[in-house]
Amino acid sequence: MGGANHLVDQIRAAIPSPAKTFAETPAGTRFSYGDLFGLSARYAHVLVDLGLRPGDRVAMQVQKSIPALVLYLATLRAGGVFLPLNPAYTAQEMGYFLGDAAPHVLVCDPGAATDLAEAAAAAGIGHVETLDQEGRGTMADRAAAAETEFIDLPRSGDDLAALLYTSGTTGRSKGAMLSHENLASNARALVEAWRFGADDVLLHALPIFHTHGLFVATNVALFCGASLLYLPRFDVDAVIGGLARATVMMGVPTFYVRLLASAALTRKSTAHMRLFISGSAPLPAAVHREFEARTGHAILERYGMTETSMNTSNPYDGERRPGTVGPPLPGVDIRITELGSGATLARGAVGMIEIKGPNVFAGYWRMAEKTAQEFRGDGYFITGDMGRIDPDGYVSIVGREKDLIITGGLNVYPAEVEREIDKIGGVGECAVIGVPHADLGEAVVAVLVLSPGAELAADDIGGALAGSLAGFKRPKAVFFVDALPRNAMGKIEKARLREIHRRAFGGGTGKRATFKGPPTP
Ligand code: AMP
Repeated sequence: MGGANHLVDQIRAAIPSPAKTFAETPAGTRFSYGDLFGLSARYAHVLVDLGLRPGDRVAMQVQKSIPALVLYLATLRAGGVFLPLNPAYTAQEMGYFLGDAAPHVLVCDPGAATDLAEAAAAAGIGHVETLDQEGRGTMADRAAAAETEFIDLPRSGDDLAALLYTSGTTGRSKGAMLSHENLASNARALVEAWRFGADDVLLHALPIFHTHGLFVATNVALFCGASLLYLPRFDVDAVIGGLARATVMMGVPTFYVRLLASAALTRKSTAHMRLFISGSAPLPAAVHREFEARTGHAILERYGMTETSMNTSNPYDGERRPGTVGPPLPGVDIRITELGSGATLARGAVGMIEIKGPNVFAGYWRMAEKTAQEFRGDGYFITGDMGRIDPDGYVSIVGREKDLIITGGLNVYPAEVEREIDKIGGVGECAVIGVPHADLGEAVVAVLVLSPGAELAADDIGGALAGSLAGFKRPKAVFFVDALPRNAMGKIEKARLREIHRRAFGGGTGKRATFKGPPTP
């Protein structure tokens, strides 16, 4: 046994019986908890035989599959640190992660092994193993001869369980070091908050290289012996088909937008579900309302990040307030501070969201200086997200600090402008950014996707906002595009948009003004 704080021991304690389904696919493949523990024992033997020592990293870049989750568990059982990577990364991009994390083993798709060989060799990785979506490859070949029993290597709550790289929309991607207790405390809090039990069937359509699909979705199921209805990717028809078997779904806002575009999303098709959860990006209030009107389900929005796992959640019982992410989860402390001074602000004021709790990561891998910059002396992590706490404790996010626009010395929060633009008939979706402007420092720019068949001009947007937003918040330019750039989690890539529209006003000085004056309400 691994010890009281070993994540895997807590999972083992939650399983009702080895025969209970851990994951099933729409095609009917069933994988039990007994299978999960048997196969992860085999993989753990393989890892130890390859020379893995406690604390060594196991990097994985494979397509979403059940064996990939088995490797996650096996790594923890062998005392290793799990490092999942987006299968979309090229060999060149992988070179950075492998060089930075220096894993002992890399497990990749059989088709990618040749391409990755050079990057792996450059990073000094001695072992490159393969694993395909069906669980075939050199990892499986080695595992075939191994025992189905494995005595987990002891780990304490403070020992690292995972290294998860941040999406890194600007600058270098950083490895967030997550301990066993970081992950376990969050899984326990979420099981409680969202009333998870062994009877739940979680519709899993998220990628598993990100905190949402791996730690939020998978750990919550594992911590109560629930089952996963495991889809290889998000597909509207497959998801709607699965709703009759599932009880809970976790998704990013784009999932819900796409589901709403299907006439098959109805009260009837969602009748078996007890809960829809959204996170990783802001869920537009209009989407929340439309989803509720169509299905009778109020989507529960929560807020988290790679470094902290989940921080806040709208309540299971009680008001799920559109446009907010709800109160802090039990055990998580949140405060709002003033940019610059760092002074704690009163309820209702907008400032930096800072977080402290057992969920908060141990720091950035091999970036001691960066880690020191992001933590206060009293242990609060400076998230980079701006928000406020309402008098009744609900948290609202107004955007990333990096996305804050300072125009003519005045602060504009893109989320506030986006909310107003979203209300204009004919607007499908929008993103508001600041671009260099010779006079203003930065100018507000809106980039819009129109609803099918809608016809709007820039003047219509300005006119429609005249009654709701002060002049300095209204866009100085409006661009119409077919689609907004998004990352794998559906987050709009604002840094890319800023780059695309950098010269909208000739490029300005290229310098970003510093923060001035009180935040706008
Ligand atoms: P990641 O580390 O990729 O999970 O990204 C975390 C970031 O996503 C947070 O710092 C927020 O900026 C954003 N985010 C996550 N959940 C929400 C939410 N419910 N509403 C608004 N932004 C969110």
